[in-house]
Order: sequence, then structure tokens, then C-alpha cells
Amino acid sequence: MRVTFLGAAREVTGSCYLVETADVRFLVDCGMFQGGREEHERNFAPLPLAAAGIDFVILTHAHIDHSGLLPKLTRAGFSGPIHTMAATADLLAIMLPDSGHIQEDNARRRARDRRDGKRPRSEPLYTVADAEACLKQISRHDYHRKVLLDPQVRCCFRDAGHILGSAILELWVEEHGVARKLVFSGDLGQPGRPILREPERIDDADFLFIESTYGDRKHDCLNDTLDQLTQVVDRTLRKKRGCLVIPSFAVGRTQEIIYYLHDLTRQGRLDGLQIFVDSPMATEVTQLTMRHLELFDEQAKRLAAWRAAGHGLPSMHFTRSVEESIALNRIQSGAIIISASGMCEAGRIKHHLRHRLPNSADTVLIVGYQARGTLGRRLVERAGEVRIFGDPVPVRADIEVLNGLSAHADRAALLDWARAFKRAPSRTFVVHGEEAASSALKASLTEEFGWAVHAPDRGEVIEL
Ligand SMILES: [Zn+2]
Ligand SMILES: [Zn+2]
Repeated sequence: MRVTFLGAAREVTGSCYLVETADVRFLVDCGMFQGGREEHERNFAPLPLAAAGIDFVILTHAHIDHSGLLPKLTRAGFSGPIHTMAATADLLAIMLPDSGHIQEDNARRRARDRRDGKRPRSEPLYTVADAEACLKQISRHDYHRKVLLDPQVRCCFRDAGHILGSAILELWVEEHGVARKLVFSGDLGQPGRPILREPERIDDADFLFIESTYGDRKHDCLNDTLDQLTQVVDRTLRKKRGCLVIPSFAVGRTQEIIYYLHDLTRQGRLDGLQIFVDSPMATEVTQLTMRHLELFDEQAKRLAAWRAAGHGLPSMHFTRSVEESIALNRIQSGAIIISASGMCEAGRIKHHLRHRLPNSADTVLIVGYQARGTLGRRLVERAGEVRIFGDPVPVRADIEVLNGLSAHADRAALLDWARAFKRAPSRTFVVHGEEAASSALKASLTEEFGWAVHAPDRGEVIEL
């Protein structure tokens, strides 16, 4: 058996692993590279193999850095099934066409630039139609059932507690009559958080592929984070009489922020909130999340019951049209505007930042991971001026950062999860983390656990 690390190797984005045996060839995840221009360009690189020769794809969860190149794969001739959780399939039906729109927009902008003699490429990475076509290949599964994906490959999806529908994959791959077990952690959630359930523990694996996004960091404790959120809301809305802008991932983080703002209201720590969700995708995903209550934990179900009772609720507005979105610029104080994309690279958030960053009464609250090279990262790094749509924008608004809300397990939680294995995997591969994070997790697993661990480079091929 052979595994090729096509992405998320000593980096966070672009998750994609090619598994090949004598009989079968499949991908685990097919994610987009995200970040600066260099990462963006990498998405256009031709696949290292014929797409038509791939038998199937198994997808851990819907995030674009895991799913975003599926339409490109289909466009290149892949026609096999895409196996994933049912809730993930529902999310992809919203996210992939949206990504197709973004690709088409980007291509139009590049075509304009080309006329200005700036950049060469005007073909979209893929189109909305490619995304729609690839959705037809999805095969929906549930947690905890061992399913036969191919005569030689069985799979069981286990709850990863990261976003709605996120899964850890247990795979049994047979070659020459010998079955070996591969476990892909996918992205693991942080235990002890509301809404989603805890990441499930796995007993054993021959080969383990573990994420390491926060392999070198500890998250702030949740209570401190919620105190900080309360203070930022209070200071911005009441003391500065401004607006609070929250760039947020449409999937997961937006629903979590809405949850906390409701829960803090229920506790009497905040009141009279006016919340605007200005992202068509976040709106759809929020509604979809409410339809998957069966995947929630007890705390989330209790809050849903309080909300249904309807006392003292924050007022929620979901803006749809571009006109409604632009109208938010006229609100001078008292609004909380949640908008995507989470790293401020695309979508309506860029318009809000262009409008709000020069205004010292407003606050921008960063609540999620910001990859290298993104506008969000520059804000976190306290840039005095940023460029948005090619124009310089001074940063006079307060920039606040909440570090405790990650959808990813921190270092201690990753090690706890690994500790639950009842025997050491024969080989472990540390993936999905920037250099420092993957090295730190590798060092701990090697030194504290005595495991055989490797952090592969992008493109590395390993014989198992
Ligand atoms: Zn993820
Ligand atoms: Zn990821």
C-alpha cells in the first residue's frame, strides 16, 4: 500500500491523501489550499494522476480546505462516488456552489486584470456547474456503521466533534489477503464545548494520520473567553457606541457565536442585542444546523428550548440581498454584524471591513484561525493599514482577538485523544499543521508515547 501526501503536509490547508493498493486507488479529502497568492496558485496545479483513475473519495468534513477541490476533480474526469456523512452532504450542497461562484468571480477579475496587462490566467478553477455536477456523486452515510466502499475497503465514520457532520475515519484496507487499519483523525474538535459532541476515542490503528493545527498551543479557557466576549460587546456597543464586526466562518463558528450571544443573554450578562448575520451561506447553514438537532449535545438542546420559549431574545436579522447588506453601513451604533469569509479573504466581510476599519468607534473581533497571508492574519498582526479591493484602508477600529473558540483540539486535547489508543499505531503521520505545530506534536508523540512518528512533506510518498 502506498500513501501520497498531496496537501496539508507541514501546512494547514489543502488536505488530500492518495491511498493506492494493487487493486484500488482512492483519496481521503480533496481540499483547497487557502492563504496568500502562492497557496491560491497551487490550486491550479494539475493533479499528479489521472482523475478518471481514482475509484472513489472519502471526505472527513465539509470545510473547504478538505472539500474545495472536489469540483475540480470532477471537472478533470473523476466520476466515482464521494463517500461522506449525510450532514456533510447537506453542507456541501450549500458550500460547493458558493465556492464555484467565488471561482467564477475571481476569474472575471483576473480577466479584467489581464486586459490591464497584469496577470495571465482567466479560466476559473471550476464553475458553479462543476460544483453541481460533483454533488451528484455524493454517497451519504451515518456515524458508526461499517460500510463496504469497495470489495477491499471498509469504512466507519466516527464523530470528530469539529463541525456539523465532521468525521474521524476508520478504514480497513485489504491487500494480498491482509487487512490493515488506517485511521484519519480529520479535524478534531475541542472537548468540553457546547453544541457538538465530544470527539470519539479510537481503540487502535496500524497507521494513524493525525491533525496538528494547534499541536504547539493551549486554548484559553472557555469561561475566560466568554468573559472577554462579554467585555468586547459591552465596550463597543455601550461605551464606544460603535458597531461590532465579527468575521466568521459561515460553517460552525457563526452558529457557535450566535449560541454564545444567546446563552450570555439567557444568563443576564448581555441584553438588547441586535445581531445581523450578513452572509447568505451562514444563514443557510444556520438553518440547516437547526434541522440536525439529533447531532447536538445536551447543552445545545437546552438552549434551543429556552429560545423556543421566546423570552428576552436577542433580535436576529438575516440579510439576504446586496442592498440589505449595504444598508448595514448606515447603522452607526449598536449592531453586531457577523459576516463571512472567516479569514476576510472573500465575501461581504471585505465590504464591512473597508467601511468599518477606519472608524475608531467600531471594533473588529477575530474569532477564528487566520492562515498566513490572509487579510485576517494582517489584522491580528496589528497592521496599521491594509489593502482591500486594491485600495489602502487605515486601521483605526479596535482589533480584538478571541483565542479560546477554536473548532480544533488544542495540544493537550490532541495528546489526550492519542493517549486513548489501546496500543501504539505501527506508524503515525502528523499532518494538517504549520511547521512549528506539527513538529511539536511529533516530538511529544515520539518522546512521551514512544511512537514511530513522521511529519511528511508535501508530495511525499510513503510505502506502508
Ligand atoms: Zn475543518
Ligand atoms: Zn482543516
